[in-house]
This record gives sequence, structure tokens and C-alpha cells, in this order.
Amino acid sequence: MASNSTNRARQLNRLIELNHLSAQMEAATIFQSLVEMGAELTNSEYSSILAFDSEIHALKFIAGPWLQMPRLKTMVVPLDGSIAGNTFKTNEPAILSSADKDPNLFRPVQEALGIRTNTLLSVPIRFRGNVLGVMQAVNKYEGDYDHEDTAFLLSLGAQAATAMHIQRLEQEINHWIEHAEMMKQREHNFISIASHELRTPLGIMLGNATFLREMIQSPDLRPQVEAIIISGIRLKEVIETLTRVDNSASGTARLRSAQVNMNQLVEDLVTSYQSEAQRKGITLSVELHSSTVLVEGEADKIGVALQNILRNAIAFTGEGGSIHVVLRKINDYAQLSVSDTGIGIPEEEQGRIFDRFYQVESHLTRRHGGMGLGLSVAKNMIEMHGGQIWVTSKPNQGSTFTIVIPEKHSELVTEEIEPE
Ligand code: ADP
Repeated sequence: MASNSTNRARQLNRLIELNHLSAQMEAATIFQSLVEMGAELTNSEYSSILAFDSEIHALKFIAGPWLQMPRLKTMVVPLDGSIAGNTFKTNEPAILSSADKDPNLFRPVQEALGIRTNTLLSVPIRFRGNVLGVMQAVNKYEGDYDHEDTAFLLSLGAQAATAMHIQRLEQEINHWIEHAEMMKQREHNFISIASHELRTPLGIMLGNATFLREMIQSPDLRPQVEAIIISGIRLKEVIETLTRVDNSASGTARLRSAQVNMNQLVEDLVTSYQSEAQRKGITLSVELHSSTVLVEGEADKIGVALQNILRNAIAFTGEGGSIHVVLRKINDYAQLSVSDTGIGIPEEEQGRIFDRFYQVESHLTRRHGGMGLGLSVAKNMIEMHGGQIWVTSKPNQGSTFTIVIPEKHSELVTEEIEPE
């Protein structure tokens, strides 16, 4: 009696140990350990786990007697005409004292194993009200299976259920990661092909239209040719944005390093947007640092970033609104902020507006043009300089986009610089 209770205590300890270990184990190892323990705890010849496969609507072995597993894995156990299938459908444990005589016994399994099935215990593997599979113990060495064996197998089945659930979630995550990577690749291919295929004919059209403009004698035709050229230039800008996005996504964008006079750059760009702002009835003002702020990098790329932010500020600010641009030198950084009194951006959207092709308002309903690329390009250009870009905004009150760029490009921004 004493040795029996010592034995039970040892078995329970192993059960607890397995419970702890399972967090670090691969699903297949957990299933194999569970069937070994299932056989041991119920004093059986072997134990097995079958999982429901929704694609074939049948059960399949995922663990069992180790040596026979290659064979068992290929077997499909039907829901109708098998004891495991019955357990799965009824969601109830079953104890059979002479399984061999049961018309429901799925005989190919015992034929494959070369073992006659006498006694059999079959329990459902349950997870949150669903049955995921079945766990079985076969041929108890002494006597018949009892309630204690059932309780043990149900408890092991519960562990198998958690492992199965995690395994399914992992498979699902992997599937979606693969899908996302495939979509990313397609997006890259589409952008490269589209920008390449559009660039050549557009170049020819623009070249010929410019030639026509020079050659045309009749002033009546000039506006039409002018319109072709203006639209062509706009299309060229779109293609350039696409190419920039594609280069930065594929990592082929390179930075030519020089000293950039930020005061000059900001002043020039703000001046170039004055007339557009005026046309919309928006006040555009600028405040530059008292001394020249220099950063290491490429003026064109920083210019593209600022341009995209300014364009948005004008697009999303209504008549009578204002835009204020401030350039400051803070420690070893140039800090540039563009504040507008426009429509603002809801908090839940603020993290996503820097994603490629993301627009807060649907492309179909919005009044402004754009492809949802401006901010992702801006972010990329700034990060190439070791800088950061962020937004603070309140709907209907306005937005402030802030850029920080280190003076020296090698000095990457490692700590978050809080917006003022
Ligand atoms: P797009 O060129 O289509 O405007 P962007 O990447 O530049 O794309 O911007 C993404 C989205 O972020 C915009 O469609 C807009 O919804 C929002 N957004 C950007 N700047 C502002 C701003 N200053 N005020 C309000 N919303 C803005």
C-alpha cells in the first residue's frame, strides 16, 4: 500500500513537472511526452493522441508508440466507424473492456501495430468548449480502466489541448507572416514595374510636348500644349515618389553626404509654398534659428521630407488657417517643426500615417489627391540621416510634425527626443 502511494506521488510529480516544462517544449515533444505519461499513469501497453483535421473531417494520429508513428501518421481515422470518432462526436469518455469485439473498432490501427486491442480508454481532448481531438490508453496490464485512469487521461488531454491550440495559433501566425511577405514582394514588384513602364513613354511625351511648345506659331494652341506639359510634370513627380519609395523599401537608396545649411533650405522651401498658401487663404510663417544650423546629409532628401509635410499642411488646413514653421538647434540636433491649424489626425491613426499607402480618409471620398506615400517617404529620408519624425495632433485643432536630425550623420538618434 505504502509503495503504491509512493508510486502515485512520483507519477503526480512527473505530471506537474511536465506541466512546467511544456512551456519550453515544441508541440511534437509535448505530445510524445504526454502519451508516454498516459501509458505509465494508466498502466497501459500504449497511449495515443489523435487530432481532428477539419480539412478531411477525420482524426489523425499526432502521437503514439514511438516506433510505429511513421505508419500511424499516414492513417486517417474516420469519425464514423471508430471508437475515437465516437468519443470525438459524443464529447464523453468511454471505457471498453473488450474493444476487440466492438463493431466500432477501427481495425487497421491494430493491424498496423500488430497488437490486439483488449481494454481501451478513450477521452475527448477539450479546449474552451470545443473538442480538438481524442486521447486513448490501450490494454491495461491489470484489470479494467476505472475513473481514476479517466481523470488522469483527461488531465493529460487538457495539456495536449493547450499545446494543440498554441500549435494552431503558431501555424496561423506563420501563414499570415508568409502572406504579408508575399504581399510586400508583390507591392515591390508592382511599384518597380509600374514606375519603369511609365517613365519611358512619359519621357517621350514630355520631350515632344516641350518641342511642340517651341515650334507652335499659333498662340491659340499654346494653353493646350502647356496643359500637357504641366500634367506630364505632375505625373513625373508621382513616378519619382514611387521610385523613391521602392528604393528605400529595397534598401538601394544611398545618401551622399555634404553640409546642409538648414536655414537656407527651410527658408527657400517655405518661400516656394507662399503663393499656394495665399491662394488658399492660409498664413504661412517661418521662424529660423538665430545662427546657421548645419547638418550632415543630402539637401534634396531633407527637402523632399519638408516639402511633403508642407504640402500636407496646406492640403489639410482650411481657409483662414495658419501654418508655422520653426527651425531650432537643440544640443547637437536640428529640430524642425511644422504646425498647422487644420483638420488634425485622430490619435488611433497617428501611428499609421507614416505607413506606405496609408491615408486617414478613404481615397474614394477624400477631396485631396495623393497616394498615401508622402509621409512614408519623409520618414525614410529623415531616418537615412539618423533622425526621427513624429506627429502630435488633435482632431479639428491642428497637427505638428516634428523632425530632428543629428548634426553628424554617424550620430544615430538612440534616445527618444520628446516633442516640446
Ligand atoms: P498623401 O500624400 O496621400 O496625403 P501622406 O503619406 O502624405 O499621404 O499622408 C498620409 C495621411 O496622413 C494623409 O492622407 C492624411 O490623412 C494624413 N495627414 C498627413 N498630414 C496631415 C495634416 N497636416 N493634417 C491632417 N492630416 C494629415
